[in-house]
Amino acid sequence: MRKDSFQQFKKVLAKSTCISIITHWSPDGDAMGSSLGLYHYLKGKGKKVRVVVPNEYPSFLKWLPANNQVMVHETEEKKVNTFIHQSDLIFTLDFNSFKRIEKLGRQVERTTAVKIMIDHHQQPEDYADYYFHDVKSCSTCELVYQFIAGIEGKKAIDKKIATCLYTGIMTDSGSFRFPATTSATHRIVAELIDCGANNASIYSAIHDDYSKDRLRLLGYCLNKMQVLEDYSTAYIALTEEEHQRFNFQKGDTEGVVNYALSIRGIKFSAFFAEREGIVKISLRSKGKFDVNKFARDHFSGGGHMNAAGGKSNEGIPQTIEKFIKTLESYTAELKQ
Ligand code: 5GP
Ligand code: MN
Repeated sequence: MRKDSFQQFKKVLAKSTCISIITHWSPDGDAMGSSLGLYHYLKGKGKKVRVVVPNEYPSFLKWLPANNQVMVHETEEKKVNTFIHQSDLIFTLDFNSFKRIEKLGRQVERTTAVKIMIDHHQQPEDYADYYFHDVKSCSTCELVYQFIAGIEGKKAIDKKIATCLYTGIMTDSGSFRFPATTSATHRIVAELIDCGANNASIYSAIHDDYSKDRLRLLGYCLNKMQVLEDYSTAYIALTEEEHQRFNFQKGDTEGVVNYALSIRGIKFSAFFAEREGIVKISLRSKGKFDVNKFARDHFSGGGHMNAAGGKSNEGIPQTIEKFIKTLESYTAELKQ
């Protein structure tokens, strides 16, 4: 845990006029919820502020309040770079290494803006001037709630902020079921509902937004799943062609990796998705098997103990071969 004082944050905020809020590549509910939640707070303080994402995000997040002011680096590079270099303060949310924002990292690295990291992933890098970092937090949205409440008190949380933060806490905690969900999480969520977050409609906006193709792709993935009983592991792999066959849209395979963990005895689940020549890997575990370490050690990735990701340039067959070979050295750990 590394948290600078609210007094320090207050001083930094008072001095800044133009603020960029940046989140990670392939933004998820926590990335967008925390960024837009913070956006509404800073906008209310009269700051010039924009949310910047490295690339596009799924349509089931595009209803969030102020979604229309989000700038995408991949498609609006010049505009984004200009804004970043104008900013005197940059928040980096829900990631802790410039590698996670790809080409945007070079721009952020080069600015003289003060940088504040708010994040809950393991092993943060040292690039920021101020930190609000806690690996025990279930989500960056939970930290943004504490950040705003610590600076200004709960009264500063309005309906828009509450809606954004509720969304990220709900998605990153797997709807309040993952082990990182604490009594403090539930207290915060209760406050957010009191501040105007509509829990039932937020759940529905996120989860009842499937296309027919997306639901059929889920069925296809579950049928394709391979179970490696000897390693208490299951995996699903999707080729480029299979993505196309189901008219894949961003976010369509979100959550697919979790299903295998509902099989009795399965402790480790992997999802391999080949797109644009790269295999993106999602890893999930139950209990003590550390997928953050597994992703870091073998697949140039990282994340959390029970949820992490990585990548491979070797194509699906070779990546799976390497995955299975790697599992051999974890046999004892996975069989415990
Ligand atoms: P997902 O499988 O949902 O893409 O990601 C699971 C978790 O691992 C998220 O917290 C995400 O931020 C992190 N993660 C995913 N891919 C990578 C990666 O390539 N590198 C690192 N460091 N973290 C990742
Ligand atoms: Mn997160």
